[in-house]
Amino acid sequence: MMELNDSYGRTFKTLRVSLLSTCNLGCVYCTAGDPTINADKKTQTPAAVFLQQIEQLHQQLNLDTIRFTGGEPLLYRELVEVIAGAKKIGIPNIKITTNAFLLDRMAPLLKEAGLQSINVSLDAVEEEVFFRMTKRQQVQRVLQGIETALACGLEVKLNAVILKGMNDCQVLPLLRYAFKHNVAIRFLEVMAMGHLHQHAAEYLYTQNDILATIDKEYEFFKLLRKPGATANYWQTLEGKVFGIVANESEPFCHDCNRLRLDAQGNIYGCLSSNHPISISNVTKEQVLHSKLQQAMWQKQSTKFTGSELSMLHIGG
Ligand code: SAM
Repeated sequence: MMELNDSYGRTFKTLRVSLLSTCNLGCVYCTAGDPTINADKKTQTPAAVFLQQIEQLHQQLNLDTIRFTGGEPLLYRELVEVIAGAKKIGIPNIKITTNAFLLDRMAPLLKEAGLQSINVSLDAVEEEVFFRMTKRQQVQRVLQGIETALACGLEVKLNAVILKGMNDCQVLPLLRYAFKHNVAIRFLEVMAMGHLHQHAAEYLYTQNDILATIDKEYEFFKLLRKPGATANYWQTLEGKVFGIVANESEPFCHDCNRLRLDAQGNIYGCLSSNHPISISNVTKEQVLHSKLQQAMWQKQSTKFTGSELSMLHIGG
């Protein structure tokens, strides 16, 4: 293993793997309501290919955490195999980020394969607003998936992107749902990515806006921020915690420890300066190290500056 860090002391300890670019929801900020853009349904990258790359990266980086994402990871046919494979490789924390639409039937299998934790992206609990945000009906399927995952003993955290004028009416209903089911929740400011690259400001519902909304119903105080954490956290007087990922109003690039791998075998050190660096045919340790060094140089010092790529492709 070779040392790899930068002048901010940043290193790569978390690997996010985008298993595919296909999704079964059409979230307005991510796919502009069209989940089929660049769909790669037929040509999924085999689990064996991912696992070989993951193992090489783990050997160099001694990863703490791997998160499988996409696209929608529950649409990846060999999800159970990659999770079990990552466990065998010895990565301590194995997580996924999902829209949970197919979670109800998959949760027991994922738990058995070695999955510990699930981030569920849920932008609304009311059907009408869920449809406005995702272009799909049946929020109930998602809620059922969350409850089944909890019953299986999986840790579940909710992530809600809040868009001004679209789903800001869901901040309190989402918070009440999370508190009732005892699941962690984080609200996210929208990022200037994909088709919103030049327009995200129109929809930006800031950390302060979110806090002002929550203040109508709860009293709360701020908690100390952990190094490397993407979110700020607050606690209500009843002892319930919520977080906000304030990409715009309080950027956290200076201690970002994430590396991304896409389904084409490219790594990226940053969501905004994201020129792909291929590790597909790399076999020599020294070469991989220099590619990782290049990815480290992609990291920005202060603020996420936006990207024309959608999260769907690079993996959220
Ligand atoms: N399909 C899975 C899901 O929905 O969780 C995983 C992929 S999705 C691209 C990962 C996360 O990226 C979701 O929580 C989604 O809300 C978030 N996301 C996508 N585009 C975003 C944007 N422009 N700003 C903030 N979050 C975004």
